Parts: sequence; structure tokens; C-alpha cells
Amino acid sequence: MPLVYIGLGSTLGDREQTIGAALELLAQGGDIEVATVSSLRETDPVGYEQQPRFLNGVAAIRTELEPRALLARLQEVELELGRERSGPRFGPRTIDLDLLLYGDEQIDEPELVVPHPRLTERRFVLEPLAELDSGLEVPGAGSVRAVLAGLQ
Ligand code: ADP
Ligand code: MG
Repeated sequence: MPLVYIGLGSTLGDREQTIGAALELLAQGGDIEVATVSSLRETDPVGYEQQPRFLNGVAAIRTELEPRALLARLQEVELELGRERSGPRFGPRTIDLDLLLYGDEQIDEPELVVPHPRLTERRFVLEPLAELDSGLEVPGAGSVRAVLAGLQ
């Protein structure tokens, strides 16, 4: 089974609890095993400052779900947790789950791009990835460590 990395982000409510709930929901189906979870870090919102700060991390999972089925599951969990939010309808989202890496696969489809297209620009994704596996390779981009070193 490939090792798969999921980006975890939350801006609203009890962010840590929301991320924990997302991981529990993902594990509940029985076809996803959460292997390890990075530490969670606060990140300044990009663009406008009126938003609460993001809490970000990364989870390594093992799953037999193929990439598109996995993305559908991530979106189901986003919806499930989004329903509980009390903030403004189009305000910041409760939870964002991104498919970052799926083993060494490279996918380029309208609905799914893997590695995640903005992964190599985002320190708040690269750092937790390096924390989980300091030797991790990003297919097409080199090692996470090298990509991080290249960021200004
Ligand atoms: P972001 O995560 O960049 O802040 P969204 O979560 O709103 O933005 O983006 C969701 C859209 O991105 C979905 O329609 C989905 O099809 C598409 N997408 C493409 N590649 C990926 C990926 N690797 N992980 C998650 N969503 C992806
Ligand atoms: Mg997303």
C-alpha cells in the first residue's frame, strides 16, 4: 500500500479538535489507517488579515482507496464537519483536507493534481512533511528538504 500524505488545515472554532475529528472520521470507514500525524502549527493567513490564524499539519495514512476515491472521502469529511460550523456562510472554512502526496504517483486531471500543486510553495506543508520523513521525495520536485532550502 502506498504511503499517502494529507494536508490538514483549520481556521474556525476549536481548530485542534476539528482536525482530530477529521482524522477520526477518515479512520472510521475501515479503509484508511492513520499512520502518523505531524505537530500542528499556526500560520498567518495569506492575503487578508481579518481572518483567524490557520492551524496546519500533515498526516501520513495508508489506504487501498485509489486517489480519486480518496479525494471524494476527504471532501465528504470536509462537508460533514463544515455542517457544524457556526460562522458566516461564506466565511473561513472549518477544515481543509488536501491530498498532498500519493506514494510516488503523479496525477494531472482537472479535478485532481498530485503532488498538490501548491505544495512546493507552502512552508506550512513542507515543514510538517519533513518532520514526518526527513528524506521524503516530492515526485517531480526533489526532496522535501531541498525544496524547503530553496524557499526564500
Ligand atoms: P485549497 O485546498 O487550495 O485551499 P480548495 O480546497 O477549495 O482549495 O480546492 C478544492 C478543489 O481543488 C477541489 O475541487 C479539488 O477537485 C481540487 N484539487 C485538485 N487537486 C487536489 C488535491 N491534490 N487535493 C485536494 N483538492 C484538489
Ligand atoms: Mg483543499
